[in-house]
Amino acid sequence: MKPLAGQVALVTGAARGIGRAVAQRLAEDGALVIVSDRDADAANAVAHRLSALGHQATSLSLDVTDHVAVQASIEQICAEHGRIDVLVSNAGAGKSKPFLDMSEAELQSQMALNFGSVYVLAQACARKMQMAGYGRVIFVSSVTGLAGPVELSAYGAMKAGQLGLMRAMALELGEHGITTNAVAPGPTDTELLRVAWSAEQVAEAGERIPARRIGKPEEVAHAVSFLASPGAAFINGVVLPVDGGFTAAGGYMAEVYRQRKAHQNSARL
Ligand code: NAD
Repeated sequence: MKPLAGQVALVTGAARGIGRAVAQRLAEDGALVIVSDRDADAANAVAHRLSALGHQATSLSLDVTDHVAVQASIEQICAEHGRIDVLVSNAGAGKSKPFLDMSEAELQSQMALNFGSVYVLAQACARKMQMAGYGRVIFVSSVTGLAGPVELSAYGAMKAGQLGLMRAMALELGEHGITTNAVAPGPTDTELLRVAWSAEQVAEAGERIPARRIGKPEEVAHAVSFLASPGAAFINGVVLPVDGGFTAAGGYMAEVYRQRKAHQNSARL
C-alpha cells in the first residue's frame, strides 16, 4: 500500500524544478497530484507525463499571487475531488539586489509572491482541511530564511516569514489533525539557479557545502514526501533543512573553504 493512496495533493509552481520533482514523488507515493503553475502549458505537460507513467495527475493553471483565483481554485478542487489532503506551497522566486537598491515596487512584488500568496493559499486549504479533520501543509522555504543571505534581503525575509507562519499554523491547527512544516533547501540544481548563477558559481557554492555539491530537486522531494506522509502525524511546526549540512556548518564552512583554496594554490606552485 502506497503511503498517500487515496489522497489529493496540490503542488504550486510544479511545472519545473523542485515543484515538478515534488509532484512526481507524491504521485509515486500514490496521491492524485494537482500540478499547478502559472505556466499552464508546462504544468499540463508534467501532468500528462505523470499520467503516462501510470500515476494520477491533473493540471491547474494558477498564478498564486491572484488571490481571487486561489480561492476559486480551492473550491474547484474540492468540488471535483472532494478533498485536499496535502498542500505543498512551493511557487516562489528571489530578486537579487543590494538592500540599499531595492525599490518599493520590487519589495511589494517579492512580498506578494513569497509571502502574501503563501498565506492566502495555506489559509484557503486549511479551512477545507479543518472540516475534514486531516491535513499536511508543507512550505518550501529556503536556507535564506535561516541565515542572512547576500543581496536577497526581501526574499530571505519572506522565507523567514514563512517559518513564522508555519509555527503559528502548527499551533492553531494542530488540534484539527493538520500538521504544518517546512523544508529549507540549500542551493538546488534547478532552472531558477542555473539562470541566476554561472557554472563557476554553482561549483563554488558546492565547495562551501559539507557534502561538496549542491542539492538535487529529488532530494527536496524526498523530505517533502516524508512530511506529507500520514506517519508524520506528530511532526508539527518544524523546519527541515535539505542542504548537505550547509546550515549546520555555519561559519566554519568559510574557514574550511579558505583552507582548501590555500591548499590548492600551494599545490599549484
Ligand atoms: P524554478 O524557477 O525552477 O521553478 C519555479 C516554478 O514556480 C516555475 O514553474 C514557475 O513558473 C512557478 N511560479 C513562479 N511564480 C509563480 C506564480 N506567481 N504562480 C504560480 N507559479 C509560479 O524554481 P525552483 O528552484 O524549483 O524553486 C522552487 C521553490 O524552492 C521556490 O519557492 C524557491 O524559492 C525555493 N528554493 C529554491 C532553491 C534553489 O536553489 N533552487 C533554494 C532554496 C529554496
